[in-house]
Amino acid sequence: MADTIPYRCPQCGGDILKTSAEPHSLSDLKNSVCAKCGRRFSEDDLKSHAAKIMDKLIRDAFRRK
Ligand SMILES: [Zn+2]
Repeated sequence: MADTIPYRCPQCGGDILKTSAEPHSLSDLKNSVCAKCGRRFSEDDLKSHAAKIMDKLIRDAFRRK
């Protein structure tokens, strides 16, 4: 599950954001698409959710250790 992170798609309501690689920073998330409808997320979309996404990534990273 390294390539998916929780997200709410504004187009289809899907909650999985698929990334091309395991994201380590917001720039990695720019190429992300909705796993359900394939909607590409803009930088603005990501910025509005950046805090939430990064919080989740950081918490997961700690949990793995
Ligand atoms: Zn979608």
